[in-house]
Amino acid sequence: MSERKLDIIVVHAPEGTKARWVRHSQAQGLKLSDWIVAAVDRPPNKVTATPCPRCASVVLTADGPGGWQCAQCGLAA
Ligand SMILES: [Zn+2]
Repeated sequence: MSERKLDIIVVHAPEGTKARWVRHSQAQGLKLSDWIVAAVDRPPNKVTATPCPRCASVVLTADGPGGWQCAQCGLAA
C-alpha cells in the first residue's frame, strides 16, 4: 500500500450518486477517490475572447485543460 499520508473525507450523497461517480471514475481508469479529488480540484472555468464558431458569441468558458464550452449555445469542443 501507499506510504503517503491521506486525509479521510466521509461524504453523504443522495442515493445513486456513488454509482454514477463510480461509472465516471471507471470510464477514466481512476479510483473513485482519485476521480473525486481531480473533479473538485480541477482548474476554474476561464472566459476567452474567441468567438464561438456556431453563434459568434464571445463568451466561451473553458472547463479544464483541452476543452471549452460556449455559454450561449452550449457548443463544446
Ligand atoms: Zn455558441
